[in-house]
Amino acid sequence: QKNNFPCQNHAIRLDLPPTFAEDVIKKLVKEGFEAYLVGGAVRDSLLGVAPKDFDVATNARPEQVEKLFRRSRIIGRRFPIVHVMSGKETVEVSTFRSGKTRQNANGRIVKDNGYGTLEQDAMRRDFTCNALYYDVIRHKIIDFHDGMNDIRHKKLVMIGEPAERYQEDPVRILRAIRLSGKLNFQIDENTAEPIASHAHLLQNEPVSRLFDELMKILFSGHAQGCLQQLQNLNINAPIHPLLTALQQNHNQMIIKSLRQTDQRLQKGKSVSMGFILAALFWGELKPYWQNAMARGQNTVAAMQAAINELRDELEHGWGVPQRYSITMREIWAMQPHFELRRGTRPFRLLKQARFRAAYDFLLIRSEFGEVSRELANWWTTFQYANEVTRNKMVTEQN
Ligand code: ATP
Ligand code: MG
Repeated sequence: QKNNFPCQNHAIRLDLPPTFAEDVIKKLVKEGFEAYLVGGAVRDSLLGVAPKDFDVATNARPEQVEKLFRRSRIIGRRFPIVHVMSGKETVEVSTFRSGKTRQNANGRIVKDNGYGTLEQDAMRRDFTCNALYYDVIRHKIIDFHDGMNDIRHKKLVMIGEPAERYQEDPVRILRAIRLSGKLNFQIDENTAEPIASHAHLLQNEPVSRLFDELMKILFSGHAQGCLQQLQNLNINAPIHPLLTALQQNHNQMIIKSLRQTDQRLQKGKSVSMGFILAALFWGELKPYWQNAMARGQNTVAAMQAAINELRDELEHGWGVPQRYSITMREIWAMQPHFELRRGTRPFRLLKQARFRAAYDFLLIRSEFGEVSRELANWWTTFQYANEVTRNKMVTEQN
């Protein structure tokens, strides 16, 4: 059993970038509290990966933490934590929690805000590699669950009884997929075994929480690896439309946009969430568009009708936040306009804020034969041409 390991102390100096989290920890310690760096930042530093964010665990209560830092606020009602800010950096400070919880009939955690000891806090975390506490002053790692050893062997191991932990919080299934894909870790046999039979529990989670976690998968820079894990785990239950879309491994447009996304992120380039979503859900939208055209509407009106029909499902059924769904809808809505190349229309299209994203999407569509190469090339030339050439190009369309 993983939770019967004696607590180990490893003398080690982590190669951290100068981080505000360290200042926060030092201040808490100076005030007489215990405080450690924990979670992804410790794990990733040990693996030589740049940490994404910095989490601090402490025995100070949220109100005590808030009092110590001028730019800080308590957030979250179920589990109050403190965001401490400096410049653009935000550090999440959470108070040690006892995993002691009230569970509903399905074994789902409904309350988890009892404070506890460091040891209890380690027990309530998900994987052994996520339960390492770094003491930034003494340069040592406190390890209750043999996490250092599992990191060395690139193994993702659930703390405690895996089936029970998935019952408590099914999102841990998605975290297992994301972390194993991102870190290239093997999911330990006992940790992997109950996943297929517990995946259906994810259906009861709020769609917005699922969507958040799926976005983290898409934006991990390792979306393809994560999908491979998903396939290895034999998850068949329909969990979320986004996941179902991703699992269509015959859909070349999805495969291509994921590959592009991973490549861009690995090179440190930015990717537009709205753009990826437009590509992922295009297959869902197309039948609506085709049906509306079959009812006799022109291409532009039919696209608008299709978007309206899908909109409610997107935002409420699938939990796509407005800020992404707006971009996605704009990219879609512009597609039929690319085929209308007469008069002032092309000039007006070019001025739209989302022109570039919509044009990139047109290129992908042309690669898959949905629109002609000639059309895509025309727009490539048109956008970079001078005014004289543009006028000539449009006149030639008449
Ligand atoms: P990254 O920040 O790279 O996405 P992370 O492991 O730091 O990965 P966070 O969501 O930032 O992920 O969570 C911080 C820590 O909180 C985790 O390392 C883990 O110890 C704990 N944690 C997060 N979610 C859960 C969960 N669902 N169940 C148990 N512990 C969790
Ligand atoms: Mg983190």
